[in-house]
Amino acid sequence: MSLRIKIFLFLTCLIVPAVAAAAGLNLENLPESDIQKAKDLIVKLEPLIREREAAQTLATLTFDELYAPLSDADQQFMKSFADIDAKAAGVKIPFRGIATGKEELTVIRGQQIKIKGEDKELPPQYLPPDVYAKYEEMMAAMEKDLGKRLYVESGYRSSAYQLYLFVYYLKNHAFSIRETVKFITLPGYSEHGSVEHQAIDFINAEGINGEDNPPEFAALEEYAWLKKHAYKFGFTESYPQMPAGSGITYEPWHWRFEKLLEN
Ligand SMILES: [Zn+2]
Repeated sequence: MSLRIKIFLFLTCLIVPAVAAAAGLNLENLPESDIQKAKDLIVKLEPLIREREAAQTLATLTFDELYAPLSDADQQFMKSFADIDAKAAGVKIPFRGIATGKEELTVIRGQQIKIKGEDKELPPQYLPPDVYAKYEEMMAAMEKDLGKRLYVESGYRSSAYQLYLFVYYLKNHAFSIRETVKFITLPGYSEHGSVEHQAIDFINAEGINGEDNPPEFAALEEYAWLKKHAYKFGFTESYPQMPAGSGITYEPWHWRFEKLLEN
């Protein structure tokens, strides 16, 4: 390789990251052009999302599958959300790793609950097999004590699906990345896609999940039971109530499995 080429390559290495950073997303408020592009992405992805929803396989969406319906330019724009500098955006939770959608998972089907008195079957949920086994063991113990159990409203979600959710929910937070990260985790930061720290969002038999009103879930005797016993099964509350301004949203329904807590 000639020296001139070597120097050129060396300079390219320096220039490319600088350009990429300059082209990065505005973390405070997306400019109007990016807002429109983000809205367009959601429209373009809608058929895929609906199809996977109907097939009940949205949770295991891979990046290749997510990007397939998009043009090169759209793919690049979508990827720029996956590449957000989490720390710069104000993310205070740890990186948990990328969930490919190809991990070994147990499918949970036929969970029956009631919502406002009406019977409802929850859509299938996915959990790593060891986490599912521990969840079942924990629920058997809860049923023995309380005569009731909690259901898995949301288990495993791939990082590609998480990326889609992040872009989808920007609209609820005035298209501010810094605001959105407080409510929707960036891909790689969600415990829902973490094989080592897999989270479960619980819902009770009456459909109480705390989503609109966290204290409603926290007032359940099922929650009090988790507080007392969940650690014995390796589960821990990820986002307990914190002082205002902590930057972490209170999620009493969200518990993660920690292999380290096992003997
Ligand atoms: Zn959760």
